[in-house]
Amino acid sequence: MGSENENQAHAVCVPYPAQGHINPMMQLAKLLHARGFHITFVNNEYNHKRLLKSRGPDPSMGVQGFAFESIPDGLPPIEIEATQSIPELCYYTRNCCLAPFRELVARLNSTEDLPPVSCVISDGAMNFTQTVADELGIPRVTFWTTSACGFWAYLHYPELVERGYTPLKDASQLTNGHLETPLNWIQSMPSIRLRDMPSFLRTTDPDDIMLNFVLKEPVIAIKSTAVILNTFDSLEQPVLDAMRAKVPALYTVGQLHMLCKRAITEPKLGSIGCSLWTPDTSVLDWLDEKPAGSVVYVNFGSITIVTPQQLEEFAWGLANSGLPFVWIIRPDLVRGEGAMIPKAFVEDTKERSLLASWCDQERVLQHPAVGGFLTHSGWNSTIESLSGGVPMICWPFFAEQQTNCFFACTEWEVGMEIDNNVKREEVEAQVRELMKGEKGKEMREKAMKWKEESEKAIQCGGSSLTNFDALG
Ligand code: UDP
Repeated sequence: MGSENENQAHAVCVPYPAQGHINPMMQLAKLLHARGFHITFVNNEYNHKRLLKSRGPDPSMGVQGFAFESIPDGLPPIEIEATQSIPELCYYTRNCCLAPFRELVARLNSTEDLPPVSCVISDGAMNFTQTVADELGIPRVTFWTTSACGFWAYLHYPELVERGYTPLKDASQLTNGHLETPLNWIQSMPSIRLRDMPSFLRTTDPDDIMLNFVLKEPVIAIKSTAVILNTFDSLEQPVLDAMRAKVPALYTVGQLHMLCKRAITEPKLGSIGCSLWTPDTSVLDWLDEKPAGSVVYVNFGSITIVTPQQLEEFAWGLANSGLPFVWIIRPDLVRGEGAMIPKAFVEDTKERSLLASWCDQERVLQHPAVGGFLTHSGWNSTIESLSGGVPMICWPFFAEQQTNCFFACTEWEVGMEIDNNVKREEVEAQVRELMKGEKGKEMREKAMKWKEESEKAIQCGGSSLTNFDALG
């Protein structure tokens, strides 16, 4: 097709359809746009509708050369406020997205005034994109959006099966000490236990969708032209050294949100958003009134679901700590109909707390008033916390959050784990320790050290900027 900008690079960016994957892909897309790439950003139709709802009719803010597209994911339609199920998304995207993606790329390539698609940058869980890249003879770069330690753990899933650790023989293995088994055969993770590995091994069903997904997809992902990780070398050096022997074209470019802040000077490009919920701006105003380091920030990310019982234990633990806190409670955070925050809790804490349903987390974790983070240990939350120098209480929910928690607590020394079967007394004690105790102080110092390290990585000559330059 004849076009004036025929030689411009055109990257089609395909995130996995969940907030924690869309955000870092968007950061990467913006950085590439700032380097002269034309960007087509492909959401599933469901998230595209949500984006339009939360961001308005033009989420690309009129930025030339940055376009949103969408493809169907094959899932049965649901209410716009409901949450798509992760196993269903994994199953359907793998089986239904290839044909619509192929059609989309063909349409882009036959659109006048668009440069031809020159590469596909795809989430490591969206491997159907490889077929289209192969058909067109263009590179496909995998962006694996978790930690290196999480990715490395997933790459060992086939061996976990071969060695008989999973599927579990029966459900009693969930509680009889089996999960405490040390796995001293995983290179660069000498003290990891089975329970610190990504959670999908906790099944007795050999046909479990998630178990089968993570057995296959990471192995396919590393066969692509290059693999990008949103981490920085000094944070995960031993794991990265081990991984580079297996994945030579590995580019660590984290932390992307900080690289964006440093490198994106065009305000319109900077303000292209991809939040599926509308952030409550009063959170930042409220924090502005609070003393430095005084507030506990509580947020379990975009997918975690808690039981009404767990919600109550967290609520009373926070209340009994006596400390100020901001708690983000998504509309779909609590399992079951009609689950409610206890009225007495709201009454007890209203002078020193703020409840909201979504916030601009990156900015919250940079706010000087925030002194600690009670988190589910999602990877984005973890690195956003490190870049704010904020220590954590970790309550991993699923996937590689278990591995992130293990590393945060034992290797990076910025976290304390809270028992999965959460009790208010433990929440209260840990929150006090985090904010006022000796261990909290030590963790804060470590977090500040990682903040400095992460800043070094994105400076001239730093590992992440050097890697990004090599990519772009
Ligand atoms: N996030 C946000 N506001 C919220 C909650 C989450 O902006 O109230 C963002 C957060 O900054 C992060 C992402 O959503 O970039 C969540 O990703 P993460 O990997 O931490 O967890 P997940 O949601 O995938 O479990």
